[in-house]
Amino acid sequence: MVEKNKRYEIEITGVSSDGNGIGDVDGFRVFVPRTVTGDVADVLIVKVLSRHAIGRLMELKTQSEMRCEPICSVYKRCGGCSLQHVDYKYQLGIKRGFIESAMQRIGGFRDFKCDEILGMDEPYRYRNKCIFPVGTDKNGEIQSGFYAARSHDIIPVDDCVAGTEINGQIVEAVKEHMRENNISAYDEAQHKGLVRRVFIRTARSTGEIMVVISINGKDIPERMKLIERLCYVSPKIISIYLNVNEKRGNTVLGEENKLIDGKAYIEDKLMGTVFKISPHSFYQVNPYMTEKLYRRALDYADISEDDNVLDVYCGIGTISLAAAKHAKSVTGIEIVEQAVRDAKKNAFDNGIINANFLADSAENAVPKLIEGGMKPDIVILDPPRKGSDEATLKAIIKAEPERIVYVSCNPSTLARDTKFLAEYGYIPIKCTGVDMFPHTTHVETCVLLSQLKPDEVI
Ligand code: SAH
Repeated sequence: MVEKNKRYEIEITGVSSDGNGIGDVDGFRVFVPRTVTGDVADVLIVKVLSRHAIGRLMELKTQSEMRCEPICSVYKRCGGCSLQHVDYKYQLGIKRGFIESAMQRIGGFRDFKCDEILGMDEPYRYRNKCIFPVGTDKNGEIQSGFYAARSHDIIPVDDCVAGTEINGQIVEAVKEHMRENNISAYDEAQHKGLVRRVFIRTARSTGEIMVVISINGKDIPERMKLIERLCYVSPKIISIYLNVNEKRGNTVLGEENKLIDGKAYIEDKLMGTVFKISPHSFYQVNPYMTEKLYRRALDYADISEDDNVLDVYCGIGTISLAAAKHAKSVTGIEIVEQAVRDAKKNAFDNGIINANFLADSAENAVPKLIEGGMKPDIVILDPPRKGSDEATLKAIIKAEPERIVYVSCNPSTLARDTKFLAEYGYIPIKCTGVDMFPHTTHVETCVLLSQLKPDEVI
């Protein structure tokens, strides 16, 4: 039996989907953060639960060949890149394993194999969006950075190797402004103080930058000086917003955005289409890999000019508009109204007339459209982490599209939903993993499901 506060020598034999090494003591499973398959480690047991224990790495007795030196100074404390101690080429194998294991365990697809996993050539500086929480340290100094793993303590970081270099300067400018004008940082526990977060989004192809300052209030003192200061950091900052977020809790952005300088959008180009992006709209964070993901999705969709395509969870229409170039028509469904407005504008600005968009929840809109007689030939699904739902999936099954392309950022919900679809005859026949978030445990998956013909049903 494993005992708390005792040390054991443990061989790590796998990595869990949250990035912890997995080993065992006499068959009892132990999770050890910052270890990897092949390590033999001296481990202090810090917690014993009914089915597993948590250990702390004290010393490495044997180093796995999969290891490398993490390049980030706060890697051990920050909750972001929990696989940074693993050499990048091995990270890809681990992520492929996450997909396969979820599809086998949850989906029930025995021997499921992911055909390919696409990785980055240069797996740093890939994020086009970073959100820096702002707070105060013990000495009352304003600080910003990232949240520590599983907590809301801010770890001060000026630069994050996943983000663009200019982020640090932008955050520093906001902090300077706060210091000079005695502006308080938000205190989550007390629900007091003004500045909560600095949200920065950069469009890779144009270099345009949007800065959104989220505040627990309606305005920020000396607003014009702040704008001037930001514009001084870079002329590429062409859109500055205040975001009003006066609610308790940790929602990243409140509902109300106030444009205080420049344009309402920044523009980026993806697969030959120009996209306008506003603060609340979802936009994939890794532009280098997004195109690879979309290309693969379109490849799987294999759209021809007679096809009507339904793109569910379409965001600002990125996949829809790329698909529209090959299709007869595309209908996009998206719950965020602002994103649908962006999608419509994006279609118009790019001269695309065969795409239309609906602001509604998938679970509400898809059954209604199908009941109303819509017959999509191809359905693309790209839901948030919680996956799709039965109402949406059932309606899609009823419409009998030839193919379903499921793009997912969460292998577990992907496996659950594909299991459901498979029960109604849609079988996953191709699968690609795409590493949108190097060094983290996240992985994007693109699966092609095709309908079994009646004589193929066993
Ligand atoms: N396909 C897009 C967006 C994918 S992210 C792209 O690649 O950019 C998932 C999207 O689903 C988000 O835009 C989110 O706002 C939207 N969404 C979340 N829940 C939804 C629901 N119940 N119905 C419709 N859209 C939803």
